[in-house]
Amino acid sequence: MMSAKPLPTYLLQRYHGWKATTYAENRAWYKRLATEGQRPRAMIISCCDSRVHVTSIFGADQGEFFIHRNIANLVPPYEPDGAQHGTSAAVEYAVTALKVSHLVVLGHSNCGGVQGCLDMCSGKAPHLEETSSFVGRWMDLLRPGYERVKDEPDAATQVRKLEKEAVLVSLENLMTFPFVREAVENGGLTLHGLWTEIGEGGLEWYDPKTGQFSPVGQASA
Ligand SMILES: [Zn+2]
Repeated sequence: MMSAKPLPTYLLQRYHGWKATTYAENRAWYKRLATEGQRPRAMIISCCDSRVHVTSIFGADQGEFFIHRNIANLVPPYEPDGAQHGTSAAVEYAVTALKVSHLVVLGHSNCGGVQGCLDMCSGKAPHLEETSSFVGRWMDLLRPGYERVKDEPDAATQVRKLEKEAVLVSLENLMTFPFVREAVENGGLTLHGLWTEIGEGGLEWYDPKTGQFSPVGQASA
């Protein structure tokens, strides 16, 4: 049996406010997007966390980003096994159909999914080990990252490192998709690994030359 109710008042108010202002002011642009289709330049893969405000951070308008969100911004490895892979489907569509130029994996501080992975891998969260835990099985994707940070003695440093590992594991897995690798190798696509600090509004990028995350630089003209 399906269940569905009318929207709560606060969402109705927000919608009508948007229709009367943002939409009304950009009506021609919306119409054009509807008739001409989307041509986003970038795909962003970020966490579902409500504090990671992707479109706000990058000041994005409608039609600019193809966004996929999942727990802990993870990309699984290429597994053409006939099963249902939501993240892989989004990557495939962005790269092969929309031909985005940039694919950004955006990790973040204070990530509940990453903390759960840490708890699970260190034996503190047996419920996440169960087959029926969708979160636990999803976070299995980050186990290779845990292996790289498991000997870190400081707990705060360890969780931060694992948040960044979530970005790195995803970047590694992206390159196992033949169409991603091909687009990267022919220069049509660049991959980017970012991590944002929620409280400070900071943004760091992964530099493969140093193997480190460091604050993003200033935009050049
Ligand atoms: Zn998160």
